[in-house]
Amino acid sequence: MTETETDALPRCADCGVTIDWLEEPRHAESHMTFVLPRLYVGAEWNANNQYELQRCGVDRIINVARELNHVVEHKKNTVITRYKFRLHDSVYEMVLPDLLRCVALLQQLQPHCVLVHCVQGRSRSPSAILAYMMWSQSKRLSAAVAELQAKRPCVSPNAGYMLQLHAVDVLFLGLKYGHTASACNALTLIADYLFC
Ligand SMILES: [Zn+2]
Repeated sequence: MTETETDALPRCADCGVTIDWLEEPRHAESHMTFVLPRLYVGAEWNANNQYELQRCGVDRIINVARELNHVVEHKKNTVITRYKFRLHDSVYEMVLPDLLRCVALLQQLQPHCVLVHCVQGRSRSPSAILAYMMWSQSKRLSAAVAELQAKRPCVSPNAGYMLQLHAVDVLFLGLKYGHTASACNALTLIADYLFC
């Protein structure tokens, strides 16, 4: 490829490298994804990328993948606090309590800059982010999913997570309007799914 051809290629807005048009979506997903001011979602490799963490100003990391441990020793002059949830990427996993705890933690961590990650940033960490978007922005699940997938096309919570996110949606809606019956119905829905 000549220098002129290389110049004609788009440059990644995040890291500045030139990328082929065909590679652009995949390349974009190699970076952590901006969700809201001071909130990112990403994969294991983003949580271990010191350069990217510093570039985005991340100072808090929530790892929601059960099988991932905190392995990176950060440089002495950077202070990143890490939090851990133990979610398993299975359709049979009861995740609703941890999704709610994660929403509460994200609320507590303001105004820090937070990366929520799992292994690939497709199912588990986006689920926590979707719950937080519904809570903090009073969005319905379908709107939150559409907005997040527009920013990170690989987002695809597994069917069990989606069912529980629907329950979270109804739960938050119930809390918002004081209809406790809706919240109870949501919990019953989950119980029926998991234990019948
Ligand atoms: Zn890039």
